Amino acid sequence: MTALREQLLSVSRRLSELGLNRGTSGNASVRDGDGFLVTPSGMTVEEMTPRDMVWMSFDGKAQGGRQPSSEWRFHRDILQARPEVGAVIHTHATFATTLACLHREIPPFHYMIAVAGGDTIRCAPYALFGSQALSDAALSALQDRKACLLANHGMIAVGRDLDQALSVAVEVETLCEQYWRALQAGEPQLLSDAQMAEVMEQFKGYGSWKQD
Ligand code: 13P
Ligand code: ZN
Repeated sequence: MTALREQLLSVSRRLSELGLNRGTSGNASVRDGDGFLVTPSGMTVEEMTPRDMVWMSFDGKAQGGRQPSSEWRFHRDILQARPEVGAVIHTHATFATTLACLHREIPPFHYMIAVAGGDTIRCAPYALFGSQALSDAALSALQDRKACLLANHGMIAVGRDLDQALSVAVEVETLCEQYWRALQAGEPQLLSDAQMAEVMEQFKGYGSWKQD
């Protein structure tokens, strides 16, 4: 079994251990040669083995005995449209999903929002899970960003590899929890465009984000 299949399964397990996904919710993909590997549809991480990861070509043809994730279209479309992206993670993490159910865009209430690539995390309008309409909405909400919310559904996080996509997903869920909690207590004070521009500059030399 290839290392990439094992990495995809281990990131899927990690999402479950961290409580970002439960049951069969969520899915993940990683670029692999002239196609990509995506998690199988409708299976829990406890049931999955590396062999169950599904290889797909960019024309949407799947190999092997398993059905690819019902969300293979947005995994395919993001990997195809964004050459700098090597991995895509989709979760129904509780706080991100709560704000997505309110159709809330996350504003620059905390400087760490820069991790998602800009000064907001957009919320894509609602579309049926697995549909091309959802993929189209996600792709535009992800423009110049590493994450977006999906209305009445969850979130997507992307990265140069699986580790970075996982870090983005964890940070987005953290930010959504913090924003949710701040909203309970009052009106969060937002950072200005100039303050966020300064943060984006500072991030160019910071930790694992520094190559971006
Ligand atoms: P899959 O099991 O088909 O990946 O679907 C889970 C999901 O989150 C759909 O949006
Ligand atoms: Zn989903």
